[in-house]
Amino acid sequence: MAIVLKVTPSQLATMKNNYLSNTTIPTGAIFRHKGNNVMITGYKSGKVMFQGPNEDLEAKKWTDTTTITSNGTNPKSKSSSPSSNIPTNLGNLSVLGSDEVGTGSYFGPLTVAAVYVPKEHIQTLQGWGIADSKTLTDLAISELAEKIVSLVPYHVVNILPVTYNQYNKTMNANEIKAHGHNHALSEVLKKISPIQPNAVLIDQFTPPTAYWRYLKNTPQVIKDDVIFATKAEQLHVAVAAASIIARYVELQTLRDLSKQAQQHLPVGAGTKVDHVAADLLEQKLPLENFAKLHFANTQKAQHILQQRK
Ligand code: MN
Repeated sequence: MAIVLKVTPSQLATMKNNYLSNTTIPTGAIFRHKGNNVMITGYKSGKVMFQGPNEDLEAKKWTDTTTITSNGTNPKSKSSSPSSNIPTNLGNLSVLGSDEVGTGSYFGPLTVAAVYVPKEHIQTLQGWGIADSKTLTDLAISELAEKIVSLVPYHVVNILPVTYNQYNKTMNANEIKAHGHNHALSEVLKKISPIQPNAVLIDQFTPPTAYWRYLKNTPQVIKDDVIFATKAEQLHVAVAAASIIARYVELQTLRDLSKQAQQHLPVGAGTKVDHVAADLLEQKLPLENFAKLHFANTQKAQHILQQRK
């Protein structure tokens, strides 16, 4: 079976831009792209043929939308609205999702998790009441995280403050996140190989163009079938599950760091955090082991310490 779409000349031009020809182009065709479980051939006549196990998914990227944008297979192509390439049936597909936590917390790590949820496990995970980790209690997080990791393949990249601060000397926060997502995704893809997900869904934290730019010198970049979306946990349970696992590891790490500091390190970046950071400084504890130093809390803590003297 193959899917054939009839498109306008301008759509055909956009598709040609989007699908880099990477195999022999047959007579009468203007491009042919061999992607992840799908081959796309565009003909001068305005017909575009999708062939392979992922033909449905790939063709839907064009039929469900009026604007045509990058699908992630060709990061150099133009992209406009980030949500316009989301297949309408995404929630029912086998998806590798990723999300990060800790970006708004002064103390503790930056934690990125990726989780693969094959379509046969979607209902089970939904039945457990998996939602965005921000809406769940710490107890619910740990119970759900333990169930998730016993059912589906996942990988966590836990960047401790000491490492984060090191990276931050040459990379901004979004760049660190981009590397974390890419690494977590590639580890899960290795685990599930030769199975390939229908889509890779990244909870968007930076525009896709910036994401690809941050990774341009990285040897192994996950590009095939990548979709960026904000609030992606609402689009597929794989992202919600990733968010829960990431939060679980972040909370555990905060507990470990609290033990090391011999005091409770709170989440967030409010005034309470400033005072705890000032306490650490007063006790001559190395702040870089516990906190993300680029936050304004660092200066505020130093100021509090000055006033105490
Ligand atoms: Mn997120």
